[in-house]
Amino acid sequence: MLGGMQDFELRIPRVLEHAAREHGGREIVSAWADGSVTRTDWAGIAHQSRQLAQALEAMGLKRGDRIATLGMNHHHHLVAWYGAIGMGGIIHTINPRLFDEQLVYIANHADDRVLFYDRAFAPIVERLKPKWTGIEHYVCFDDGEFSDLLAPHDGNYDWVEGSEREPCMLCYTSGTTGNPKGVLYEHRSCMLQAMAEIAPACFDLSPQTVALPIVPMFHAAAWGLPFAAAMAGVKLVYAALNDAELLCRLMNEEKVTHSAGVPTVWLAMLQHIDRTGARPEHLKMIAIGGAAAPRAMVERLMKLGIRVGHAWGMTEISPVGTIGAPTADWADLSFDEQVDQVVRQGRVPFGVELRTVDDDGRILPRDGASSGRLQVRGPWVLRRYFGDESGDCIDAEGWFDTGDVAILHPCGTLQITDRSKDVIKSGGEWISSVELENAAIGCPGVAEAAAIGVPHPRWDERPLLLVVRKEGAEVTAEAIRDHLRNHVAKWWLPDEILFVDGLPHSATGKLLKTVLRVQYRDHRLA
Ligand code: ADP
Repeated sequence: MLGGMQDFELRIPRVLEHAAREHGGREIVSAWADGSVTRTDWAGIAHQSRQLAQALEAMGLKRGDRIATLGMNHHHHLVAWYGAIGMGGIIHTINPRLFDEQLVYIANHADDRVLFYDRAFAPIVERLKPKWTGIEHYVCFDDGEFSDLLAPHDGNYDWVEGSEREPCMLCYTSGTTGNPKGVLYEHRSCMLQAMAEIAPACFDLSPQTVALPIVPMFHAAAWGLPFAAAMAGVKLVYAALNDAELLCRLMNEEKVTHSAGVPTVWLAMLQHIDRTGARPEHLKMIAIGGAAAPRAMVERLMKLGIRVGHAWGMTEISPVGTIGAPTADWADLSFDEQVDQVVRQGRVPFGVELRTVDDDGRILPRDGASSGRLQVRGPWVLRRYFGDESGDCIDAEGWFDTGDVAILHPCGTLQITDRSKDVIKSGGEWISSVELENAAIGCPGVAEAAAIGVPHPRWDERPLLLVVRKEGAEVTAEAIRDHLRNHVAKWWLPDEILFVDGLPHSATGKLLKTVLRVQYRDHRLA
């Protein structure tokens, strides 16, 4: 028997129409690389998106076609998302920081037909055009090209209707191992996640919010913020340049209250604050995710009076899995205890279920101590990679293995201890490379650190710590070891600490430990 309520497919154009109708005057501000600033609003975004849908149809694009972007954060890019999705297409956001080989693989694998790109990425386009087999139309976002494409159309357009389970967006993982893999989001999965994100305990969005998402629109669906912001009537401020000075100035000029980005952007912001004494005056809440937020950074941000929502997620889960928010007993906690909470990765919103299992698949207790493989399921969690003939990558009960190693606390708080490929297996026990790195970063003079396991005849593996010194610092291996002694178990102490000039990073700014493991495979520990 069915209930008595309406069919109402959760499709993305509905959100855009909602924003245009209920919050039409809320601004969308774009700061461009040349220093200029342009303004539109949700009504303007909706109108332009309808024009783009008309333009795409005039170009011969059909339902289900892939429409790619190679762009930073700005309102044209937002219009590309909504316009492409609204005409039944699939928006495919490509990360311009990937290697050429991956850029070629991704666009061909996705079978992209159109590419919208920033002028700044024109050299990539020129270089790879001959290798991209399916792209028929190239449109530059800048130089008036994008506006010229919209101009002939009147915006009088009815969005394509259909099932909420139809695809709308394609994002590839950055492929730290093997070829990147595509994750095909659905209207419904994006809508449900966006609804969850608005909540105070999640991204805390409302019509009073002015958000500057630093997370790029090409990284994991920009954490769903373009959809959640439209739902909540948020004013959006976009910067096409990822520069701390510009971001801080924009935050103050536009009275930005909320922001989101990976740890490295906040490190740059704190350095800017140290250097200049300027600070984002109106910032109330930031979401940090994509990699573990180091304790020292969390502490400093909290001392600036900013609420830090430490979030865990991955492209495969749209990407939001958990985020931290003040707990019921928050006011009774000391500052240090509050920081203890915030450095963990928070709790799930409704819609995400988590569990940890041991190597034999036995479910582990949520006891704040047992560490195991983290598994997840829910309506915005991946079932099968795009175009993957080998089938579903979940078990019979829908659990997806994240490849992360974690502890679950009795209150439901998640604590990521490592990636399963990165844990250092010493004498049958696990050493968390992330904890070693974070402890090392807390030592004065250390800019960045990477801990990897290298083969050891007796213990199987032992930790090697690679350290980049801060500019001008002379910190020694002994000083780092002394510092670590106060933070980790004795048997975790690295057998050797090596100083290096730099460390390899992935396109999303994460340490590429796969590269380091190959590089140091034959290293004999001192
Ligand atoms: P990739 O960078 O591999 O393409 P994602 O950007 O989807 O993929 O990254 C997902 C991974 O990033 C997670 O599986 C986890 O290992 C790591 N990660 C994300 N957020 C956090 C966090 N807050 N703390 C620790 N690790 C995190």
